[in-house]
Amino acid sequence: MKTKAYAAMSAGSPLVPFTFDRRDVGDHDVALKISYSGICHSDIHQVAEEWGPSIFPMVPGHEIAGIVSSVGSKVTNFKIGDAIGVGVFIDSCRVCDNCTTGLQQYCVKGMIGTYNGLESDGETVAMGGYSDLFVINEDYALHIPANLDLKGVAPLLCAGITLYSPIKRWNVSPGMHVAVMGLGGLGHMGVKFAVAMGAHVTVLSHSPGKEADAFAMGAHSFVATNNPDNFKSIQKSFDLILNTISAEVAIDDYLKLLKLDGTLVVVGIPGEPYKINVRNLLSGRRSIAGSMIGGLPEIQEMLDFCGKHNILSEVEVVSADYINEAYVRTVASDVKYRFVIDASTI
Ligand SMILES: [Zn+2]
Ligand SMILES: [Zn+2]
Repeated sequence: MKTKAYAAMSAGSPLVPFTFDRRDVGDHDVALKISYSGICHSDIHQVAEEWGPSIFPMVPGHEIAGIVSSVGSKVTNFKIGDAIGVGVFIDSCRVCDNCTTGLQQYCVKGMIGTYNGLESDGETVAMGGYSDLFVINEDYALHIPANLDLKGVAPLLCAGITLYSPIKRWNVSPGMHVAVMGLGGLGHMGVKFAVAMGAHVTVLSHSPGKEADAFAMGAHSFVATNNPDNFKSIQKSFDLILNTISAEVAIDDYLKLLKLDGTLVVVGIPGEPYKINVRNLLSGRRSIAGSMIGGLPEIQEMLDFCGKHNILSEVEVVSADYINEAYVRTVASDVKYRFVIDASTI
């Protein structure tokens, strides 16, 4: 199927219009007309080959929301016209302990990524969501509640689930004190979810200018981290800290903000390994943990939760010819709070 897209033709090169063929719709496949595709920071890392060798030409994009345009003969879960989402992976081994318990993102053989890798056939290069149509096995696609605006849904498929999953895993609930480090594409979803779960939510941000937005999203407190003095009054305050910052941070300063048995969960990948003083773990029986996106059942649960609570990502909709500029602005944290590409402009 002829597919129009935007691709990086080599490492670090600007994205340009590109055409390729997707596979025909198989018995268990659904095809979707993409409506919106989010720009995730990991797209930028992979185009720039900052995470090891990439495959080019590369069509990035793993925050995909669209409408089903055709279904294979054996498809049972989707019909033409349904709102449908595709996230960070399009398949996995389906038989390992993690796949069979719905944790496909931790497939022991490695999940099959939405782009910059090979599809399950082991030979077709997977092409992502900066394109006008997509074909996926129905088992790895998600239902989008009909009441949600697709442009604000697209980033839920990566940024959203990246925060929803640890918030569920660490049982965020009324009475808990949760801090979110960084109010960007990831962090703002953490604020919305933790607020919806009833927690007392504090935003820790180096940008004092984001305070009004934090409160508008439901946060209860805002601490500007560009002033070290501000850390003093919040020592031993939080049950859970969600670190969405991919830049280097003085992690010990944040560990000290955890209460007894508190956990700091890392969801962003910094360029340099953490160096921590374990005294800050011992002195409060604290933990540092990591979390990566979420599995299919949990992504569906999140989308249903968003439908019920009317939660969306805050987005700036851009046309495809703006992608390169959007990359520059994303790296500069100059976006409120996620760029999504209007796929009709591809
Ligand atoms: Zn992503
Ligand atoms: Zn598996």
